[in-house]
Amino acid sequence: MRGSWKIRILIGLAIVVFAFFRKCAMTEENPYTGKDQAISLTTEEEIAIGVQSAPQMAAEYGGLYPDEQMQAYVDMVGAKLVDNTVARDTPYRYEFHLLADPNTINAFALPGGQIFITYALLSKLETEDQLAGVLGHEVGHVLGRHSAERIANSEFWQTIAQGASVGADAGNVVAGIGQNVLLGNGRDDELESDDLGVRFMIKAGYDPYEMIEVMQILKDAAGPNRAPEFKSTHPDPENRIEHIKEAIKKYGG
Ligand SMILES: [Zn+2]
Repeated sequence: MRGSWKIRILIGLAIVVFAFFRKCAMTEENPYTGKDQAISLTTEEEIAIGVQSAPQMAAEYGGLYPDEQMQAYVDMVGAKLVDNTVARDTPYRYEFHLLADPNTINAFALPGGQIFITYALLSKLETEDQLAGVLGHEVGHVLGRHSAERIANSEFWQTIAQGASVGADAGNVVAGIGQNVLLGNGRDDELESDDLGVRFMIKAGYDPYEMIEVMQILKDAAGPNRAPEFKSTHPDPENRIEHIKEAIKKYGG
């Protein structure tokens, strides 16, 4: 570090300021959840990303489940959730895919409306209401634009870390902080999706208490060796149950 350190700090600061301005410029209110969020993708881009990645995603879980009747059941519950809720008024294109994987208990959503559930998870569910709970949660991720928000937030933290490494050799420290913030956002996304899932279940005529049963199933499936809550993006099912109970009260289930 010689005389140039002042210039380095100025450049670093400029990068950080730029990142904040860009984030402010990108912030918009989600019309379906009322939440302010930074988004760098358009809805069309979200849909395109989801549609393009769907076949790859399916391939990673052994492809689509071959029994068309089971797929039709998933489609029926998905359609009920979309047609009876605010999800219908969004520009997203909802498609529900049953994946063949018999071992990995999972469900997830790509941006724009591509939603997946593995056969392993479906076979653990006991009622249609429970399936509605799982799919409603995933519809919540789509409508909450959680993937798009995560993309924008990680771009933000990358830029901040660049600024910090130019200005003060602190890029790694800042990147570490960013990682933790992003993990925390992930947990908030899960709770918001549970909340939206409960809301959709009630609107579509499903029993929202079955969402609590889903949590129990996930908890049992995870076993005693599951990662402590603060380390994983998915909050502890026990913690989620508390929030689900509040949501049921809030939406009058
Ligand atoms: Zn989730």
